[in-house]
Amino acid sequence: MIGRIHSIESFGAVDGPGIRFVAFLQGCPMRCQFCHNPDTWNPLAPVQFEWTPEELCREAIRYKNFIRKGGVTVSGGEPLLQASFVREYFRLCHEAGFHTALDTSGAIFTPQAVSVLDYTDLVLLDIKTTDDALHPAYTGLPRTNNHRWMNLLLERQKPVWIRHVVVPGRTADEAHLRALADYLQPYLPIVERVELLPYHTLGRYKYKELGIPYPLEDIPDLEPEKIKQARELLSSLLPVPVL
Ligand code: SF4
Repeated sequence: MIGRIHSIESFGAVDGPGIRFVAFLQGCPMRCQFCHNPDTWNPLAPVQFEWTPEELCREAIRYKNFIRKGGVTVSGGEPLLQASFVREYFRLCHEAGFHTALDTSGAIFTPQAVSVLDYTDLVLLDIKTTDDALHPAYTGLPRTNNHRWMNLLLERQKPVWIRHVVVPGRTADEAHLRALADYLQPYLPIVERVELLPYHTLGRYKYKELGIPYPLEDIPDLEPEKIKQARELLSSLLPVPVL
């Protein structure tokens, strides 16, 4: 079994607790308007590594002294496009004593994807919008599978960190943020934190390189004051850390 790995970050500090060995897997079925990694979309595009789960785990073990209090994370793209690979990688990582985190959009809900949870300690789940009507326009896909993941994680009592990109003119207004807080209420037993990520345009050059029109041409970076206000609002509505 071979995994197609776009790139690796040996000392990641933002994708789960502690210092982490992060593998970004190639391929994503979504087309988020605010994606800053369009180079990860095409599952067949050239990648840095084509490795077996054993080879990737061996690489992670090289950093074991540094990530002892952190662990390993798979991100993307959408890692669940390569669910069998991720499952076996996480199984080996558990054998090696690592904490495992799955960073996913929740777009794929298949038996293979769900089976990755058997060896997953923490899920970092992106919620792009809680508005069913807007979700297809913002991401290219319906919200159904994301919602299924939330229910499954609750059923399995699996810890989750919610991630939400705050985009001016899309998801930054108060009504949208209140709707997110309302949606999360039934899931609070498993939600450990909410991370609000400010929209930025740093990935715009990648669209140019790939010859893809940039979907949010007229939307500026989210102002620092706006992300501060968004965090304050959600903090007032949810009893969990909002970062
Ligand atoms: S799910 Fe992530 S990688 Fe895929 S299009 Fe959306 S932001 Fe980009």
